[in-house]
Amino acid sequence: MNVGVLGGGQLGRMLALAGYPLGMKFRFLEGKSPAPVDHLGAVVRASYDDMAALDAFADGLDVVTYEFENVPVDSALHLAERVPVHPAPSALAMAQDRLKEKQDFQGLGVPTAPFVEVSSREGLEEAMARLGLPAVLKTRRLGYDGKGQALLRTPDQADGAWAELGSVPLILEGFIDFTRELSILAVRGVDGDCRFYPLVENVHRGGILWTSVAPAPDVTPALQSEAEDYARRVMEEHGYVGVVAIELFQVGDHLVANELAPRVHNSGHWTQDGAVTSQFENHLRAVCGLPLGDTAASGYAAMVNLLGDVPAHAEILGVPGAHLHLYGKSPRPGRKVGHVNLVEPTRDELREALSLVEEAARRAGS
Ligand code: AMP
Repeated sequence: MNVGVLGGGQLGRMLALAGYPLGMKFRFLEGKSPAPVDHLGAVVRASYDDMAALDAFADGLDVVTYEFENVPVDSALHLAERVPVHPAPSALAMAQDRLKEKQDFQGLGVPTAPFVEVSSREGLEEAMARLGLPAVLKTRRLGYDGKGQALLRTPDQADGAWAELGSVPLILEGFIDFTRELSILAVRGVDGDCRFYPLVENVHRGGILWTSVAPAPDVTPALQSEAEDYARRVMEEHGYVGVVAIELFQVGDHLVANELAPRVHNSGHWTQDGAVTSQFENHLRAVCGLPLGDTAASGYAAMVNLLGDVPAHAEILGVPGAHLHLYGKSPRPGRKVGHVNLVEPTRDELREALSLVEEAARRAGS
């Protein structure tokens, strides 16, 4: 199979690394150079809205997928006239606009934070009056890793938040007093077969994912099936093919959806070493029309992001059960340059190994 991937970052790199054993070949569309996918396939250097480049990119491909969710929907639709594109561009459209995303979740009966569209300074006052404070003001588009958002605790913070974010369309969300952040990774095949990974517990630092633990501790079967039900509703609505990630807040014994990623996701990286089939392989199996693989965890797993710089290899590889995954990126403060997966036979051993790796990652720059 010749697989085209829109985007050439670390997710594209890890897709290729998972696809080579299955005999797949890869072509990427990526404007930046150097890129993490360099040397892992042909790289077409062009912007996502260059239609002539998209045509050249699509020539001879069996399927196109994305590793980047801000690919213009029009570009995905243009490609879909030439070659199968998975997941459906409609899921991309849902994920690109926080307002539409929340409306669509609610339309499917998936609970979200209360929200109000904000398009003027007066509108922000009205939204604050309706939702109360604290609340989170977010850009509707292009927000990621905690960028493009401001927490409002008191009314006098509105002016500063408006000055920072008010030049683009916004949404105000009621603050969810969650007990923890979880995510569900799911995959749906061309034939409609759906598989779900165990819920993952995520810890963020400064809005960026820091660690994931999988399976998340203290998950009841009811909580797992609530998450699966929400993911299934989204996938069936879009005729979805591939891996989807939904970030969730746990409130009491229930879940509230925060965000959807129509692609493989950072909180699923543990599956490379800690699940029978990784999210990357399952995404490729799905988009290529192959049978899906087992999503069960094969031990107690965790992932630690390496932010800024990479610790000495020996510091990581000396920890039992640790696997290092680097993205070929140069160091820069806060940049995701790699991650470490840990797989251990018991939760206690996982806790111990996790603290060693977190410490090494912090010393290196995280
Ligand atoms: P996001 O960019 O929407 O993923 O938000 C980044 C982080 O901000 C989340 O992982 C949460 O920790 C926090 N956050 C976002 N929205 C809310 C909310 N409505 N209530 C409470 N915390 C939030």
